Formats: sequence, structure tokens, C-alpha cells
Amino acid sequence: MLIILSGKMNFQGTIKIDRIKTFPIRTSGGNSPKMALGIMPTRPALLIKIEDSSGCFGWGEIWANFPPRANTHKANIVEDVIEAHLQGFSFSDPREVQRVLRKTLSVFFLHIGQSQVFEHILAGIDTALWDLALRHKGVSFTEFMGLQSARARSYASSINAEDLGRLIPLHAELGHTHFKLKIGFAEHGNARIVESASRLAPDGSSIMVDSNQSWTLEQAKIALRDIEDFEPYFAEEALRADAPLSDWEELAETTAIPLAAGENVYGIEDFLSMTCAGLKVLQPDVAKWGGVSGALDLAQIAPEDVLIWPHFMGTAVGQVAALSISAAIGKSSTCEVDVNDNPLRTELCGDVIAIKGGHVELPSDPGLVHPPILENLMTFADQI
Ligand SMILES: [Mg+2]
Repeated sequence: MLIILSGKMNFQGTIKIDRIKTFPIRTSGGNSPKMALGIMPTRPALLIKIEDSSGCFGWGEIWANFPPRANTHKANIVEDVIEAHLQGFSFSDPREVQRVLRKTLSVFFLHIGQSQVFEHILAGIDTALWDLALRHKGVSFTEFMGLQSARARSYASSINAEDLGRLIPLHAELGHTHFKLKIGFAEHGNARIVESASRLAPDGSSIMVDSNQSWTLEQAKIALRDIEDFEPYFAEEALRADAPLSDWEELAETTAIPLAAGENVYGIEDFLSMTCAGLKVLQPDVAKWGGVSGALDLAQIAPEDVLIWPHFMGTAVGQVAALSISAAIGKSSTCEVDVNDNPLRTELCGDVIAIKGGHVELPSDPGLVHPPILENLMTFADQI
């Protein structure tokens, strides 16, 4: 990967954090992605709004796809534990806040057995602080990073087996050239789904597969061998994220399919260890680990032959942050966009994730993300 961004990330001025508010939201019905882990009965989500002492604000998203009340659980933690440490804190670069909170609170979260929940919260805070810092400075992310294009490349993700015939042609028409399938279900053979998708995908496009950590090493070897002829662009989470590195290494040596993971990897060191074990595609999730800062820092240090394709499954707030990371990395990066109906992606902030020519336009207003439309935010407010 190896991109040089640090010179461009020049935050100036001091921002004093004043108010923090969380917004647990939810949508039900529609189509949900079917994962080897199970289905998502509703789509909960958690947004965070941080205001500075001048009344300027920033929005972020804390990962809360499941279990169904993950959003209220994490909102309570922000209010009960984090808020007091943020109020009155002054920063210039959002990284400072992550660093200080980690130093102060990581032992607490280790003690309560929720270290990764803490990472999700830090990730959302980082995104909100990027949004706040850029809005405060009066620049868009594109301007701040000096990007030549205000567009991010996207790929079609989480296509259920029964929707292949409808969604692959639809997304090909939107300019998508990469299509990711959920596999690993006993009821329909993996090879059969990949074969159908390959037939539907236009010439020159690629299929990817995601089995959501559901295979053992032996199962992964067999499953990947069965689909190798279709030349998937990558296989995502073919093993558990915490599988021994020797297992990842053995799998990488026995398959021609590039291996991908990252939505359940926490910390730059762990990402780098996985590249040493043969991983070729890193997929940090902006709402789960590191926020915008973590992904951009990773992009600067990752080996040259490794791709960074941000993972994302959530609302338009986090989605725009994830797309922005891709845009900053450049042409080698493509960001995940879920193909399934989700008003939190398509209505919460208005029609801002419109895919044209396989790209999504980034905001031109100051800030990182599009703020939610207040009326819509209220509609999706969680009643639990
Ligand atoms: Mg996945």
C-alpha cells in the first residue's frame, strides 16, 4: 500500500470538547444480509454527536449491528464512563483523544471484559472528531487531504444467494465491478453460488466471497479449493480472525485465492502480523477499530503488495467515513457498500450514498460526513 498522507493531515488550532450525545437508532423489515453467523432481525445502530465550546459539531458512528440492543448498551457506556473524560478535553488532532482515552481507560475495559466494545466506541469518537475538526476548520475531507477527486470507489457487498439474479445486473448497471457474496451456508453449496454469480457478473468484473469466520482450517482449504476455478478476487474471513497465524499461513500457502480480513482485527500490530502470515487484503472497519485515524495510519505502514479495502455495514454516517478512507488511499482501494435495503444508509442523511459509475460522491460541505436529517433521526430513534 504505502501512501504518504501525514504531510497532508495538518490539523491546526485547538478545539475544546463541550457536549457529547449518543443516538441509538434502528430500522426493521426489508432485506437483511444473511451471514454464516445468522441473520440480522433488525438493524440497530449508534451515532455519536460531539460539540465543541463554540457550538460546532461532529458526527460519528459506533459499530452496533448486533446483538439487537448493542446500540443502547454502548450508548450507556459512553454516558456512564466515557463522557466525563471527554468533557472539557482540548485537542488539535483527533489521534490525541484516542491516545489519552486508551491510556486512561483501557484497564477499566479489560477488567469488565469489554476491550473490543471500548475500541468500537473509540472508533466512533474518532470519526466524530474528524467531522468536528474539519467543520471547525471550514474544509471538506477532500480539500483537507488535497485529494484530486471527490469520489470514492465502491463495491457491491452482501448479496444473498436468492438475490443474485436481481442485484448483480442492477449493480453492474450502477458501474460496480466487484460483487461480494455471503457463503458458508450448508443448504446451498458454495461452488454453486459462486458459479451462478460468475455467470451473472459482466466480463472483466470480479466475485468475492465472505464466510464470516465460520470455517476451520480444514474446512476453509476444501471450500476455497472448490471455488478456486472461478478466480475470486479475495476470500474474506475464511478463518476466525483470532485463528493462529500459522493457520492463516498454511491456508495462504494452499490456496491461490487472496485472503482478506480486518473487520474483527484490532490494532495496527495485529493487522501487520496478518500480512506477514499471507493476508493480501486488509479491511479495517471505521466504526469498529481506530476510526478514520487508525485506517489512514494503517494505510501508511501496510506493505506495498497489500490492499486496504474498508469494511462497512451500517448507516450513511459511517459509510461516508469509510468511503472517505478509500478515497484518501486512492485507486487501489475500494469501499464496501451493502446492497440490501437499509433506510439508515439511504434515508437517514438523505440520498447521499448514490452510486454512479461505481463511485460515491463525497460531501463538498465542510466536515467529514453528512449530518443526519433531524426529522429522520427522530423517526429512527430507538424505543427500547
Ligand atoms: Mg465480512
